[in-house]
Amino acid sequence: MKIDISDLISKKCDNISVEENVNIDAVYRGNEEIRLIKPITVKGHLYRADQCILFSGSFDTVIQTECCRCLEVFSTDISFRFNEMIVGENEEDSDDVIADVDNNIFDLNDFLERLLILKLPMRFLCDSDCKGLCPQCGTNLNNSECSCEKEDIDIRLIKLRELLKQD
Ligand SMILES: [Zn+2]
Ligand SMILES: [Zn+2]
Repeated sequence: MKIDISDLISKKCDNISVEENVNIDAVYRGNEEIRLIKPITVKGHLYRADQCILFSGSFDTVIQTECCRCLEVFSTDISFRFNEMIVGENEEDSDDVIADVDNNIFDLNDFLERLLILKLPMRFLCDSDCKGLCPQCGTNLNNSECSCEKEDIDIRLIKLRELLKQD
């Protein structure tokens, strides 16, 4: 999806409304794939402020990813409001701009992908109370209990034990 912003830049108009459902299958953060299972609903407007062009609105989608504790795949809503500069006044602003504007054409998909990656939490948890996996047998402790001894696991001791086993 591309939006012609010539009229904003030439000051023929003061703002452009945007209301779209944009299909993006997945975004990538390093090697991590984050799948989108619903189109992104974006509602807002592009507007001029002094010599800059900004985009203000709401972002809404559902992503599917893996819990960092129990490794189960789960889906979660991602909704937030944003107000981002898409054209800066000068070179110094370029660090703050997360948009790709070429010949007065604003690339909405590219902007939404970059914005989503910026706003995603660093780690995903299926639930703040997720019990995770048993470090000994790998049982998902959210679903069942295991019969492993509940000793205090010291990661350094486990590593040492593995080293001794190799000999
Ligand atoms: Zn979990
Ligand atoms: Zn266990």
